Amino acid sequence: MAVQVAIDHELVERMIHDLARYGAWGETGVVRKVYTPEWAGAQQQVMRWAEEAGLHTWQDAVGNVWARLQGREDGPSIVTGSHIDSQAPGGRFDGALGVIAGLVALRTLREQFGTPRRTLELVSFCEEESSRFPATNFWGSRAVTGLIGPEEPETLRDYDGVTIADAMRAVGLDPGRIPQAARDDIEVFIELHVEQGPILEQQGLPIAVVTGFPGIRHYLVEVRGRADHAGAMPMDLRQDPMLAAAEMISAVIARAREIGRPAVTTVGRVLVQPNFPAIIPEKVSFTIDVRHPDSARLADLCAAHEQTLRTIASRHGRATSWQITTSHPPCSSDPELVRLLVEAAAEQGIPATTMPSGAVHDAQRMAHIARVAMVFVRSVGGRSHTPAEFTTTDDAVAGIRVLAAGLRRLAY
Ligand SMILES: [Zn+2]
Repeated sequence: MAVQVAIDHELVERMIHDLARYGAWGETGVVRKVYTPEWAGAQQQVMRWAEEAGLHTWQDAVGNVWARLQGREDGPSIVTGSHIDSQAPGGRFDGALGVIAGLVALRTLREQFGTPRRTLELVSFCEEESSRFPATNFWGSRAVTGLIGPEEPETLRDYDGVTIADAMRAVGLDPGRIPQAARDDIEVFIELHVEQGPILEQQGLPIAVVTGFPGIRHYLVEVRGRADHAGAMPMDLRQDPMLAAAEMISAVIARAREIGRPAVTTVGRVLVQPNFPAIIPEKVSFTIDVRHPDSARLADLCAAHEQTLRTIASRHGRATSWQITTSHPPCSSDPELVRLLVEAAAEQGIPATTMPSGAVHDAQRMAHIARVAMVFVRSVGGRSHTPAEFTTTDDAVAGIRVLAAGLRRLAY
């Protein structure tokens, strides 16, 4: 028999609004970088809400917030949640909506159906966006999966040079205790997140169940030349790295365009040294972000990009080097969970589709220790990582109903 999950529309709207006050930026934006006072305030707010909902709460060694609805049976937990940190500036939905969704889902299940058979938990991950520390790489979920290296706390630095260990101490956390955040008693992790792209809107659907996650590789490329006077040095005698860098950037983007969906390549950060109008640059550095859901095609695309860099560098005689700063293989959702969530959507009378994720998410990290799946909720205009990010409360509620119905099937 289909059991309808009734979600309090006003509660969801109020929580989205209230959580966005921590790190509010302009009218609709949020800047909530890990281990800042705004971040600490948001995590405390989540704990207060969870306690009001009758859940048992705690903060782990790395700063993730957890809330538990204890089941009647022993055994591993079924977990939902997302991240509390934001881009700088980001919107009020990326990550935050998944935390609120998990909170509302657990609260509603407890109120509507009582004590579950299996233990349910909410997690509000401390860090996902790398918006303060460029190399944290899913700091919160990596701590839970035991994947943070012992040297990392004292070596990772933010854009101002502060180590992540010092940033943790500033909010009362002890970096020496990070290994204690690891869990080996989680069976399932389901994350609700805004889609961050336009596919659902184009299809006229509020919800998708995510079938898999892209592989991703980040390059940091350096093209070197010689600084000289922008007026006095003739064009034929210059060692200007800008021309080669500009050609490289345009070539890798053009190649991904040529290949088409779902291949993507982005050059999102360019640094020019010394970065003055009347000086020929000495060095141009840029990042390349390459993604594809198929590992062989990702490898082919990366190999092609590397060949392009070599060819252009040698044509211009410009010393060029690169390092790979991030590399994750693609990963699939658990097929059984995907089926269960699709059925949960049908049971709730909510139109839904399935799709691969274009973005990387904590769920991908959690796949190291648990079966994972995700629920995507429509993003208006496909906008995300901007204060213009928006999801209607109707769509958010539809997503939470699917999440809650899925959790009910697993835990009751
Ligand atoms: Zn996110």
